[in-house]
Amino acid sequence: MTDKILIIGASGQIGIELVLELRKIYGNSNVIAGDVKTPPYEIMESGPYELLDVLNKKQIAAVIKKHNITQIYLLAALLSATAEQHPEAGWKLNMEGLLNILDLCKKMNVSKLFWPSTIAVFGPTTPKTNTPQKTIMEPNTIYGISKLAGERWCEYHNAKHGIDVRSIRYPGIVGYKSSPGGGTTDYAVHIYHEAMKRGQYTCFLKEDTTLPMMYMSDAIKATIELMEASSNLISIRSSYNIAGMSFSPSDVADSITKHIPNFKCNYKPDVRQGYAIGWPQSIDDSTAKNDWGWKPDYDLEKMTKDMLFNLGMTKL
Ligand code: NAD
Repeated sequence: MTDKILIIGASGQIGIELVLELRKIYGNSNVIAGDVKTPPYEIMESGPYELLDVLNKKQIAAVIKKHNITQIYLLAALLSATAEQHPEAGWKLNMEGLLNILDLCKKMNVSKLFWPSTIAVFGPTTPKTNTPQKTIMEPNTIYGISKLAGERWCEYHNAKHGIDVRSIRYPGIVGYKSSPGGGTTDYAVHIYHEAMKRGQYTCFLKEDTTLPMMYMSDAIKATIELMEASSNLISIRSSYNIAGMSFSPSDVADSITKHIPNFKCNYKPDVRQGYAIGWPQSIDDSTAKNDWGWKPDYDLEKMTKDMLFNLGMTKL
């Protein structure tokens, strides 16, 4: 039987790219995009779309039934900076949304669930470099707290109810197709757009704030590879550490300057600096490598070239 896949949060930064990639693999009609927000044209015209709210359990149950859904990717969440502005809404969406879907997977025999966690599950007391898979986790943002609780719920549902839930702790994700949705690493997307448009950018993090990051195509590759891995290879049912690259705002600025010599980056740290300093600088992803063969394709220089090319720079 062909899998029928529902993506909840399909209009977001990662959702848009994941829907398009999954449609290439599973066929357009087998990948249903779902969101409270209308997705862009390329999602609407290439396959089915359902307007839905993950907090409305009855509505989601009806969509699962209507399309005979066998796999769910739950991406809807409030990200770090937005959740910090609206802590109760952040907790509600991130937690109730996940619990609704875990329960529906159990009751409606959805065979697989993907739910992303984040490096924000770590906190100021976590070892900062080469952060291990299993370590001290004392997050100090609502986003991190909700995702850490989510990880525990995922592991619990796998152990108690056999739900085949799979998860990755995404680092900051950089892509050119869609705008980021209110996170602390959004600067690493804006900086490329502003470099192309204006030749300058004012960064909301300090120049030497190193964080783990990943190019979008690697994030999509990791997600699909994890979902397609044989179940007996999956030893982590909370969430896998994965690494792509680590860089600071000045590292990105330097890599852009190689192609746009007059590019200027200024630094005006805001409240997001406070979240960033609590997070790791680099991640040990050996468990993901050993379990299901994770390997990224992009480093900073390769990503910068690809970003600038896709944003319209022809001579690289
Ligand atoms: P985003 O904010 O760009 O997209 C989230 C989508 O969810 C939006 O389209 C929004 O309309 C939708 N949504 C919000 N409330 C909803 C509801 N009640 N019902 C249905 N849909 C709803 O986020 P993103 O960057 O694409 O992130 C996707 C997932 O990946 C999130 O769980 C996030 O925590 C995780 N993540 C992202 C990053 C990153 O750098 N982008 C890093 C770590 C983890």
